[in-house]
Amino acid sequence: MLGQMQKTPLLVNGILDYAALYHGEREIISRLVEGEIHRETYAQAHLRARKLSQSLLKLGLTQGDIIATLAWNTHRHLESWYAITGIGAVYHTLNPRLFAEQLVYIINHAADKFIITDLTFVPLLEAIADKLPTVKGFIIMTDEAHMPQTKLDPVYCFESLIEAENGDFDWVALDENAACGICYTSGTTGQPKGVVYSHRSNVIHTLVANGADVFALTSRATILPVVPMFHANSWGIAFAAPMVGAKMVLPGPKMDGESLYELLDKEKVTMSAAVPTIWLMLLQHLEAHKLSLPHLQRVLIGGAAVPRMMIEKFEKDYKVEVDHAWGMTETSPLGTVCTLKAGMENYSFEEKMQTKLKQGRPPYLIWLKITDPDGKTLPRDGKTFGNLKIKGPFILETYLREENEIVLDEEGFFDTGDIATIDPEGYMQITDRAKDIVKSGGEWISSIEIENIAVGHADIAEAAIIGIAHPKWGERPLLIVLPREGVDISTPEKVQKDILAYLEGKIAKWWMPDDIVFVDSMPHTAAGKIQKTALREQFKDYQWPPAILADDKGE
Ligand code: AMP
Repeated sequence: MLGQMQKTPLLVNGILDYAALYHGEREIISRLVEGEIHRETYAQAHLRARKLSQSLLKLGLTQGDIIATLAWNTHRHLESWYAITGIGAVYHTLNPRLFAEQLVYIINHAADKFIITDLTFVPLLEAIADKLPTVKGFIIMTDEAHMPQTKLDPVYCFESLIEAENGDFDWVALDENAACGICYTSGTTGQPKGVVYSHRSNVIHTLVANGADVFALTSRATILPVVPMFHANSWGIAFAAPMVGAKMVLPGPKMDGESLYELLDKEKVTMSAAVPTIWLMLLQHLEAHKLSLPHLQRVLIGGAAVPRMMIEKFEKDYKVEVDHAWGMTETSPLGTVCTLKAGMENYSFEEKMQTKLKQGRPPYLIWLKITDPDGKTLPRDGKTFGNLKIKGPFILETYLREENEIVLDEEGFFDTGDIATIDPEGYMQITDRAKDIVKSGGEWISSIEIENIAVGHADIAEAAIIGIAHPKWGERPLLIVLPREGVDISTPEKVQKDILAYLEGKIAKWWMPDDIVFVDSMPHTAAGKIQKTALREQFKDYQWPPAILADDKGE
């Protein structure tokens, strides 16, 4: 016997319909590339998206076409997503921080038909346009007055396209399993790979993300997604906020401490989401100018592990709750969020801290396990670490144009490439990326844990551990430090000694870095994370000082 309920397809465009109908007056605020702050409502965004759908059809685009966006978080980018999916086409977010060759590879691999771009990236596209045979045209997200002189051809003005239409348009009817959006992995090893979200997976992801123990967004919230729409679907916020009618504040191209503070303060933002490097900049700005955050209630931090110092500062100094989250492009991206369970409200600050340093627990519909290298499931004791695997209706099944390659295990789990523990309460903690873990004498040293403790030292702005070959131990940890501005490292031995003394007792003796080196800048990936591959390249000729090689570590 079959159920007899309506089979309403799960399509993302319904989210904007709902926002316009029930939260039509709620605002979307954007800092534009042109400089000014733009304000509109969900009702206006809904109309403008439908007008843009009409013009995309007139430009010859149709169901199944892939349309790229190369843009910051603004209302125009948001409208583009809904306009593209509304004609049954597929949005493909391009990360402008990638090298030009990688962009060329990705655009050609996806066979993008059109590119909708911010003014910022016109020169970038002009430089590569002749290498993009599948791209039939460009739309520049600006008005007629700001249209640049450009070699891009054919080229259209976003605002003029919208002005020419009347918005009398119904989103096309689609199967909920139709492709909705594409995002490529950052490709730290090998070429980037395409992850194709469906309408169904995006809608389910959004419903889950809006759960009370997850993002807990409501119509009363004002959310500032600093996390770019080109980074893992802006963690789903471009769908999650309209689904509940939360006011959106979009930072455009400016993500420095001062610009973010201005928006947080003026727009009375209650929740925000970003990677740790962004928060580091904001915290430095707040400290330097003795500012407070009276409106902000919660920050969602993910993409890289959150250091203890960051949780402490937000929660103690600014009374802002930190929700640590983990996910990846392949998981839409939500995997876990670290919200406390019943019974934990009475924890001491230190007990809460120990939980919050973990990446959290999965909501319903996500299943996690850790396994040994043979695929055998390991215990959830909070100590044993293994390969983290994940399964669920918004987790990748295959990569774009690699449909015959099996990336799931026999139980349907996807190997995340992360190494983690899971404790008896279900809280998962990432120890490392599998390729970043330091293997010393057959044991594993967690680079993340040492880095997180190290950045608590007052002289350290950023810290990274890499494994360096060692004749006896296989590998030993080298600590690479970007000092805070103004720190005197003219006698490095003194600072090194001080950092080692700081680490002592906080990590196991055999985890202590064998040497510390200082750098003028830290390389970051396109997603704002410390780029270990670049550091490994930079230090490939590093040799341990003789005294360290002679040290037998107490054996
Ligand atoms: P991306 O697909 O670029 O978002 O990268 C996903 C990867 O980022 C994950 O597989 C993790 O290695 C890392 N990552 C994401 N969130 C966290 C977190 N909270 N703590 C540690 N690593 C994280």
